[in-house]
This record gives sequence, structure tokens and C-alpha cells, in this order.
Amino acid sequence: MQIVHVSLENEMDLTLAYKKSIKVAEMIGLSRSTQTAFATAVSEVSREVIDKAFEGKVELHIDYSAGKYQLQANIGYSLNGEDIVLEDGLQYAKKLVPGFKQNTTGAKGNIELQMGIPQSSKLTNAKVSSIVNYFANLEPSTPYEELKEKNYQLYLINEQSEIALQHLEYLNQQKNEFLTVASHELRTPLTILRAYTQMATKSDCSPLTLSHLKKVDTQARKLQMMVTQLLDISKIESKTVEYNMEAVAVDVYMNDMADLIKQLIPNHELSLKIDSSAMIIIDKLRMEQVIMNVVGNAAKYSPSGTQIQFLVSHIEGNEVLFQIKDQGIGLSAEDQAKIFGKFYRAEEATKQYNGLGMGLYISSKIIADHQGKIWVESNGTDGSTFLFTIPDFTN
Ligand code: ADP
Repeated sequence: MQIVHVSLENEMDLTLAYKKSIKVAEMIGLSRSTQTAFATAVSEVSREVIDKAFEGKVELHIDYSAGKYQLQANIGYSLNGEDIVLEDGLQYAKKLVPGFKQNTTGAKGNIELQMGIPQSSKLTNAKVSSIVNYFANLEPSTPYEELKEKNYQLYLINEQSEIALQHLEYLNQQKNEFLTVASHELRTPLTILRAYTQMATKSDCSPLTLSHLKKVDTQARKLQMMVTQLLDISKIESKTVEYNMEAVAVDVYMNDMADLIKQLIPNHELSLKIDSSAMIIIDKLRMEQVIMNVVGNAAKYSPSGTQIQFLVSHIEGNEVLFQIKDQGIGLSAEDQAKIFGKFYRAEEATKQYNGLGMGLYISSKIIADHQGKIWVESNGTDGSTFLFTIPDFTN
């Protein structure tokens, strides 16, 4: 059982190691001369470690084996240079204690100093526990000891946080792997389902069956979109999103997109205004994903029949600005700051609308990867305006 330890950093730790060794030996009930011999051996080895090793530590133990208690000092160390050997300073220590063992593996080593505890000292497990408690509750007796104790506590906290962090990283990695595999596996049956549904709609079927098939296809498309978003999130987390960048004139690109946007929001009135013909460098499909997400949200979170304004303009600082304004439920200042986070949904939205809170997180990453910015403006009630910029590469 470990009683106490001292890290070996400088000369002052020699005194500490000596004092603690004497105290343990005294509490066990060893004779004065045995106490001194043990503590001197510990400090001799410690001196060699402080002089030559990169770092070291003394641990004092009381162990019980084969019907006997033993007092043991384990002095662990690590060396910085392979050519250093801990040897010369150990000779004296070897003579002072009956048991001396040295093990080295590479640049790490451990020295064991052992001393049998005679029956006459009447040591029991209860006594050993009381010695452990004594050292656990011992107040530092010098400012140096106090500082050392605080440093040690900090070291322990740091070590625990590192272990916790490593564990979290491992769990995160596992989650990402699961997301990637699950979304890939879900995609294939969904693609097949949609292909057969679309084929069936072209066959000779009754109007009722046709309307049922269209509903199946709409739901399968929604599911496909969510699975694609899950896959995108796993790509973002593992930093494997790939972009196929190309230069396009923003007006040409937006005119090509107009029909798609209209189809996405059949129950709203779209006002699309393009006031820029700047050249932008984008991944067309990823930019389409952002636009569809933001425009889709504008329709989802506003009443049918209301207007959605989409304005594209050139602004100072050589940027193209995209603005999508709706007349929907709006966003509080608190939610405005959070909605671009992963899986975040405003409370108002969760009450009335379906969603997973992935779209804006993905969109914000795509915009950032295009060297742009995305944000939202809303007074909290009268709708929201989503804005994003993309650099203008005209010149
Ligand atoms: P989802 O719409 O699936 O929840 P998003 O990531 O696209 O996921 O949006 C995150 C949240 O931002 C939504 O849940 C909603 O609270 C809010 N939001 C997005 N667009 C709008 C909008 N046009 N009006 C009001 N709230 C919005």
C-alpha cells in the first residue's frame, strides 16, 4: 500500500524525501538506527536521480507478503540521454538496506529499496491504514512543501482532464464513424425506393394510386435529405468535405436556380431580385444546398401565401450579398446567436414545426469554406432576414 510520495525536482526534495522516510520508519516502530539507514539510502538514491535523471519520484510503501510486512521505497526515474547511467551514487545506498533492485527499460528505470519489518514492531493492517491517513491529512510544514502540494494537485487535475478529454475524443470519433456508416447504409435503400416509386408513377395506375405514390415519393425525398445532412455532418466533423470550385457570374447562376427555388416554395410568393453580375467562385451544388436550406426555412417558418423576398446585390468590401427575407415567426436575439450551432432549434420552432437543426449548421460551414459570412436579422416577431456574403472575384 502506498503511504506517501515525493517528486524529485531539486535539492530541497532530498530533505523532504529524507524526512518522510524517517517518519514512516518511526511510525512503523523501527529502531533509530534502522530509520536512519533507510532514510539515508532513500536520499542517496534520490540525490543520484536529481543529479542525473530528467524526472523522478519516490514512493514509500508498506507491503505484506508471505506472512511478513516490508517497508519499500520505489524510486522511479526517466533519463533524457541514453548514455547516462544511474550507477556511481548508488553504491552507498546498496550497503544500507538489505534489499536493492534496479530495473531499466530504455530511458525509464526504477530502484527498489526494501527492508523487512520485524514481528517485534507489532504492525497490523489497522496500523498501516492509520499511517496512510496520517500522511493524507498532513499539512505542509514549509512554504516549499505547500507549493509542491499545490503543484501536485494541479498536476492531478490536469491529468484527469486529459484522460476525460481523450475519452471524449474517442467517443466523438466513434459517433462520427457510426454516422458515416449509418448514413451510407440508409442512402442505398432510399435511392432504390425513390427510383421504383418514380417508375410506378409513370405506369398505368389510377389517379388515387398516383396521388399515394406522390406522397410516398415526397416523404422518401425528405428522408433522403435528412440522411444526406447526417452524412454532411459526419464529413464536417472529420474535415473531409470536398469542394468542386468554379467561377460563375452570380446573375447567370441565380437565373439558373430560379425555377428550382420556385418549385421549393409553391405556397409562397417569391420576389427574386438580382442586382449584381459579379464573378463568384463557388461549388455550385453546395451553394444550391445553402440557398435551398435558407429559402426552405423561410417558407417553413412563415404562413402560406406570404411573400419571400430574395435579393442579390454587390456590397462594399468586394462582396456579393444574398438576403432572404420572410414574414414568419421571427427569432429572438438569444436564438439568433445560437441557430448556426449543431442541432440547435428555437423553442418556438420545436413546438410547431418538424426539423433536426442540421441545415443552418451545415450552411454556415459551407459559407465559411467559401470565405463568406452568414447571419440573421430579426426584431423577434415580424419575420427574419437571413444574410450571407461571398467574395466578389470580378477583378
Ligand atoms: P431545422 O429547420 O431542421 O430545425 P435549421 O438548422 O435549418 O434546422 O434551422 C435551425 C433553427 O433555426 C430552426 O429550428 C429554427 O428555430 C430557426 N430558423 C431557421 N430559419 C428560420 C426562419 N426563417 N424563421 C424563424 N426561425 C428560423
